[in-house]
Amino acid sequence: MKKVIGLLLALVLAFSLTCVAFADGATLTVTPSSTDVAKGGNVTLTLSLAGADVAKSGGLTFAYDSAVFADPAKADGSWVLTGAMLADFDNTKNTAAIAYMSATDINGTIFTLKLNVKSDAPVGPTTISVTPAFKNGSTAIDCAAASATVNIKCDTHSYSDNVVPPTCTEKGYTVHTCTACGYETTDTYVDATGHSWGDWTEVSPADCTKAGSEKRVCSACKVEETRDVAALGHDVEGVEWEYDSGAHWKTCKKCLLAIGSNGEAGSEEHSFGAYTETKAATEDAEGEAERACTVCGYKETKTLPKLEKAEATGVESSDSKTSATIAGAGSKLSGFKKAVVIVDGKEIAVPESAYTITTDPATGDATVVVDAAALAALDIKPGTYEFKLTGEGVESTFNVKVPEAAVAPANNAGTGTTGNASADAAAANDASVTSPQMSDSDIAFLIVALLAIMGSSVFAGVTYRKKRYNK
Ligand SMILES: [Zn+2]
Ligand SMILES: [Zn+2]
Ligand SMILES: [Zn+2]
Ligand SMILES: [Zn+2]
Repeated sequence: MKKVIGLLLALVLAFSLTCVAFADGATLTVTPSSTDVAKGGNVTLTLSLAGADVAKSGGLTFAYDSAVFADPAKADGSWVLTGAMLADFDNTKNTAAIAYMSATDINGTIFTLKLNVKSDAPVGPTTISVTPAFKNGSTAIDCAAASATVNIKCDTHSYSDNVVPPTCTEKGYTVHTCTACGYETTDTYVDATGHSWGDWTEVSPADCTKAGSEKRVCSACKVEETRDVAALGHDVEGVEWEYDSGAHWKTCKKCLLAIGSNGEAGSEEHSFGAYTETKAATEDAEGEAERACTVCGYKETKTLPKLEKAEATGVESSDSKTSATIAGAGSKLSGFKKAVVIVDGKEIAVPESAYTITTDPATGDATVVVDAAALAALDIKPGTYEFKLTGEGVESTFNVKVPEAAVAPANNAGTGTTGNASADAAAANDASVTSPQMSDSDIAFLIVALLAIMGSSVFAGVTYRKKRYNK
């Protein structure tokens, strides 16, 4: 009984050891020189082994489709392994054999087989398989069969053409497909056509302040494109201003909102110009002044109080200006005011640019300075005239002087005059420097100017001497 159990255990052990040997078997790989092979061409298969034990002998058996490859006599096989006492390939049986004197390492490239493809071979994939059988003495080395698949192609393809037309966005092209072997090649590219857009159509309307959108559709591929339409803005074209006492506006023809001059919604405060007198105040009666909005024309009036005569004091006239002080009139002359010069009983209006009024904040007194040259520009002959200044409820008069020198000479009109002879002469001198061609009258003027300069030098010398003696 014990003997029987011992024998069973030995069998189990031996079996399991064999299994381990199977698991660690060698691997054979078959690599073709090319996977695409033309009819009438050839392919070389390279066989390699990995993970094999040492061996003393071995064999390879090849199997392939004889309709594809030429008969065995045309196959060309040879061992790559060296040092064998026998290395043989039998191309009538498609078998190869090798034998060594002693156990030898057989890993690496072991064999090459060149196969010739028949010129009338059917196209398509075909498989070549190899069954190995290596032994170390009586012990077989486990190694599975291996194979390689190659595609047999036409030597001259028989194409069928398929023209793929271009689309809006993709190129067109022609595909040539071989009806025999399925080989494909593509050429004759044509540019994409681009979309064939229809007209824009409204999706959502724009209004005065809100953007809208519109779309268009390609008639070929039906793709849609959408874009924004800018807000239209308010439409007040040809609309009259409306106003009340505080503001003005136009009513938008589309949305009926009140719109200001800046085009934005909302009414806008009036923008008044200066007051002008519409009815003069007198000592006995109030007057009236009016101002208008420069945008909408709305007019606003105010009452001018009865006049009170205010005496002008400290009146001083020189050849260039006249100044006077009017007690307490500063605030009355800060808003509406009117100035005239009385020439031969007639009132000649004096523009605001011809005089300045400054108010002393401590006393409220107004100091008025009248520019003589500006008065002369009103075509007033040299002389002394009454200057009447009217404010809100106040009227003051004083004498102003229009001197000889302030009257512009006729031949110098346009360039302006300073009312100072030597300065004018210097200006004329400057003009002669920039003007190389001088007329007789220019030369005559220059002589007069030079004489004037000489005269003022003598005057300056006298003044200087006087100052020195005074010290
Ligand atoms: Zn083909
Ligand atoms: Zn399209
Ligand atoms: Zn509007
Ligand atoms: Zn207005």
